[in-house]
Amino acid sequence: MKYIGAHVSASGGVFNAPKNAHEIGATAFALFTKNQRRWEAKALDNDTIRKFKAACIRYNYSPEQILPHDSYLINLGHPEQEALQKSRNAFLDEMQRCEQLGLTLLNFHPGSHLKKISEQDCLLRVAESINWALQQTTTVKAVIENTAGQGTNLGYSFEQLAVIIEHVEDKQRVGVCLDTCHTFVSGYDLRSEEACRETFQAFSDIVGFEYLAAMHINDSKVPLASRVDRHASLGAGEIGWSCFKYIMQDSRFDNIPMVLETTNPEIWAQEIQQLKDWAVES
Ligand SMILES: [Zn+2]
Ligand SMILES: [Zn+2]
Repeated sequence: MKYIGAHVSASGGVFNAPKNAHEIGATAFALFTKNQRRWEAKALDNDTIRKFKAACIRYNYSPEQILPHDSYLINLGHPEQEALQKSRNAFLDEMQRCEQLGLTLLNFHPGSHLKKISEQDCLLRVAESINWALQQTTTVKAVIENTAGQGTNLGYSFEQLAVIIEHVEDKQRVGVCLDTCHTFVSGYDLRSEEACRETFQAFSDIVGFEYLAAMHINDSKVPLASRVDRHASLGAGEIGWSCFKYIMQDSRFDNIPMVLETTNPEIWAQEIQQLKDWAVES
């Protein structure tokens, strides 16, 4: 089964997200469980939690179809101790919010070295941060997103993802979210079936599909290996439709949330329908 959706709005309350997803024909969705541009957030109250769970039941979404995304402010590989702890506390809060909502995945960008520590040190810090948060929670899986490699952001190569995973103690509770735009701009070609075969073979060899926990389905406004994060609507960028068709017809991408973060929400319903049509064909 392919779960296909988009990163929908949770404005007015997290309980609005399932309905927003349902309205565009989604069978998966992503959301922020708090304002993603602020450190502080009001704790989730019982009424909000109850309404969220009821909406998920009403619109038929189980936890394996839902991919919460953490705040953009968090840097789990921060070179400075105080700022690192601030990020860790915020990340733990995000994980706890997921658990309160009955959710089992939390998608995050690994971290940035800010030119103050080596790449390797930064990757190890990220792994330590994950270990620290997993020890204080019970069910939610830490889902590392590969990045575009913009600035000093790490996690843009499969090798870097593998290093983080290698140092996470509880392998059952760590996974990867591959963003097709980030994969492409960090240097892995996806423009043809052949290119997809090679890129996902490399992922399989270096990380392993057993760790694939989610996908972000985006085209890219910028060329291969440009290390810039600019999403585009499907088929309207440098990657092109063949990659998305390939993914929909490959069973290694079954039973995980696959979420659009494309730039025009007006056509999300159409993009989802196209992806669903290919998934059925396979
Ligand atoms: Zn993404
Ligand atoms: Zn992105």
